[in-house]
Amino acid sequence: MKLTQKKITELLTETACEHNHKKDGEKKNKSCKQQAQPGAAQGGCAFDGASIALVPITDVAHLVHGPIACAGNSWGSRGSLSSGSHLYKVGLTTDLSENDVIFGGEKKLYKAILEVEERYKPAAVFVYSTCVTALIGDDLDAVCETAAKKTGTPIIPVNSPGFVGSKNLGNRIGGEALLEYVVGTREPEYTTPYDINLIGEYNIAGELWGVLPLFEKLGIRVLAKITGDARYHDVCAAHRAKLNVMICSKALINMGRKMEEKYGIPYIEESFYGVDDMNRCLRNIAQKIGDADLQERTEKLIAEETEKLNIALAPYRARLTGKRVVLYTGGVKSWSIISAAKDLGMEVVATSTKKSTEEDKAKIKELLGKDGMMLEKGNAAEILTVIEKTKADMLIAGGRNQYTALKAKIPFLDINQERHHPYSGYSGMVEMARELDEALYSPVWAQVRQPAPWEF
Ligand code: SF4
Repeated sequence: MKLTQKKITELLTETACEHNHKKDGEKKNKSCKQQAQPGAAQGGCAFDGASIALVPITDVAHLVHGPIACAGNSWGSRGSLSSGSHLYKVGLTTDLSENDVIFGGEKKLYKAILEVEERYKPAAVFVYSTCVTALIGDDLDAVCETAAKKTGTPIIPVNSPGFVGSKNLGNRIGGEALLEYVVGTREPEYTTPYDINLIGEYNIAGELWGVLPLFEKLGIRVLAKITGDARYHDVCAAHRAKLNVMICSKALINMGRKMEEKYGIPYIEESFYGVDDMNRCLRNIAQKIGDADLQERTEKLIAEETEKLNIALAPYRARLTGKRVVLYTGGVKSWSIISAAKDLGMEVVATSTKKSTEEDKAKIKELLGKDGMMLEKGNAAEILTVIEKTKADMLIAGGRNQYTALKAKIPFLDINQERHHPYSGYSGMVEMARELDEALYSPVWAQVRQPAPWEF
């Protein structure tokens, strides 16, 4: 896939993304179309985004063509789990040196691909470009094509140099690579009227495994997981699904729209967090598949699961009700976690809307009520002020904000991709309640909040 200016603009102005819909009924949101400014890659560059989207394909060798630091930057920091091959966890890089920058890195890349193919026998090799290899002009597509002919293994170029933009753009570049080289290249052994794809679910901390049994009980087959715990050949056959279910909708929304255009697969945007959202997700899938019997089975399953869940959550609800939470996360999670917290009787007093679409914001407003604060931008100092103002009992945010919580002497729950506990589905609700309870009632807080010895 050649990453031309036209392609970048197309991805930045993805029509299915709410950010590009008319803002306030007047004009489009310009910020999406702007080229990356210095500092745009802070918090993840486009290469990082592409690897987040693709590395969870477990039986693939992911080879980073660039200086070792690019691969080292994100290696091992994501919690996507696998139920099979662990090849995706092997850090592979061409480790470019100054010599390669001067004389070009194509030969080194070609040799590296052959070595990786020979040594690991992967289902495919994904080759990622980085800033340096894009700047010196290495032709990733040509090298991959030659290596694919030589080895007979699919070698997929992912043109994702960090400088083209942010992590979100990188996610979409990853999606484009799948659309261009992977999806539609193989037929599934058989198809059923109940085949769906899950797109944008990365099996962080094994979250997918809390939801798959529900689909199994209903007789719904997940044909391809894109890309949590995915197998390469399943993704190849994803074009035969009857429905695409977008989980972190904004990240790979281009895949949903383009698969609808190319293969006629409709897509819906759902969330697995919180009882209401999980119920809604199952109902919407059943309704979209359009089978009356499936809809009936879904209602039965929801009733059974809700009953079991109410019993499991009762002791936690008693301890969590009324606790005040500041939520600092992005996208879909900024409202889906509010819904999950509300299910536990907690009150979300403020949330971030940094990466939220207009639709996300409308949902947040509805869930927060008139007193809830929406934080458009945030940094540690601002979050501390909000915590103080709202008298929050807890901060739920990404890993890097844990020190903000510690400064405020309140408990913290990690909700982003580095988390170690699965919070999706009904079983995830119980896990989340347990984690919140343990964090809030840890005896350490009583000690930290005491005045320091020199303050007596
Ligand atoms: S691709 Fe570029 S921005 Fe991203 S880690 Fe490598 S050098 Fe940094």
